[in-house]
Amino acid sequence: MALPKFTRSFTQQEPISEEAIAAAVEVMRSGRLHRYNAEPGEMSVASELERAFADYQGSRYCLACASGGYALQLALRAAGLEPGEPVLTNAFTLAPVPGAIAAAGGRPVLVEITEDLVVDLDDLAAKADATGARFFLASHMRGHLADMEQLAALVAERGLTMIEDCAHTMGATWNGRKSGAFGKVACFSTQTYKHMNSGEGGLLTTDDPELAARAIILSGSYMLYERHGAAPSADVFASIRLETPNNSGRMDNLRAAILLPQLADLDTNIARWNARYQAVEMRLRQVPGLKLPVRPPEEHYVGSSIQFLIPDIQPNDARRFMRQVSASGVELKWFGAEEPSAFTSTHKSWAYMEPQSLPKTDAILAGLFDMRIPLTFSVEDCRQVAEIIAASAANLPIGRAA
Ligand SMILES: *Cc1c(COP(=O)(O)O)cnc(C)c1O
Repeated sequence: MALPKFTRSFTQQEPISEEAIAAAVEVMRSGRLHRYNAEPGEMSVASELERAFADYQGSRYCLACASGGYALQLALRAAGLEPGEPVLTNAFTLAPVPGAIAAAGGRPVLVEITEDLVVDLDDLAAKADATGARFFLASHMRGHLADMEQLAALVAERGLTMIEDCAHTMGATWNGRKSGAFGKVACFSTQTYKHMNSGEGGLLTTDDPELAARAIILSGSYMLYERHGAAPSADVFASIRLETPNNSGRMDNLRAAILLPQLADLDTNIARWNARYQAVEMRLRQVPGLKLPVRPPEEHYVGSSIQFLIPDIQPNDARRFMRQVSASGVELKWFGAEEPSAFTSTHKSWAYMEPQSLPKTDAILAGLFDMRIPLTFSVEDCRQVAEIIAASAANLPIGRAA
């Protein structure tokens, strides 16, 4: 029996709330769009956002900046990365992550992942030893958290500085502790397809006063670092302010104005995402041949996307499966494709890096499918989408092999 075609868009976001629109209009009426366009002692909207996000995260310091990728660059530089140094990072990540390492002058060294789509701790230890790297950029790609206690212990044992890429884990926790609270510094994105939407934007959090001061100066604060919402005291900047280059990439008040009300709604939206995620997950778990990453009880995730594996699927079958679901109106991404497409790419197409051998990751990516779960879908929409995936998977020569 053919299922009805699904007709809703996988890339349509919810509108910006009327409250956020009103806040943005107020900033525009004032003409004061630049974050430092405030009276001495007055908190600009960008500073208010920094204060509010630091409180949400439970971090001492927060910097609002131009993008998540830019925040990652700043984090690496402010943590002391030297030109040419190796930086370990998960091999399953998004292009801006190795891109940020390269932009900061580092050399990405990719670490294998497991079938649960998190960093392989044995390979991390081996590559830390082999390269002598001082930095590990933990990319919580598609919201999957490694065992954060084990990871933090390994990182401490090897003397690595951990930078967390929380683009997909804003609001997530491990054992009740916020994602982003395990490393020395954490980076978040407020680009349209993440958990808060200002078009573009980034947030950096840390408890380290000197790292925060360097990041603030790097972000282009001129000598106005005292006009920040969650910054270390002025004495911390004494020498840092003169030694640190200004690489403008600030957030403006307009973006901050639309983010503040969204932050207040974030936890509500996480529950809405997870209801949708669980509707898809429940159905896909019943499909023979499909394997979903295990989500441990310690992990409180944000189900803004879902991934599944079809282990050992042949490329031709994967392409046929993609065509079938697409004909039914369901937009999947496949990480096994030869050519990068839109937001989806793998290490094989990041040709500015030294080529790296990642047999375990490559085998996983060859059978890895990925789907965005927009909040514009109802739970019922999500059930329908899952039925379409299940029906298309039933046509594959999978789950039957000996
Ligand atoms: C989106 C994203 C980033 C960077 O975000 P931008 O704001 O687009 O620079 C970093 N890491 C991951 C995993 C992402 O998905």
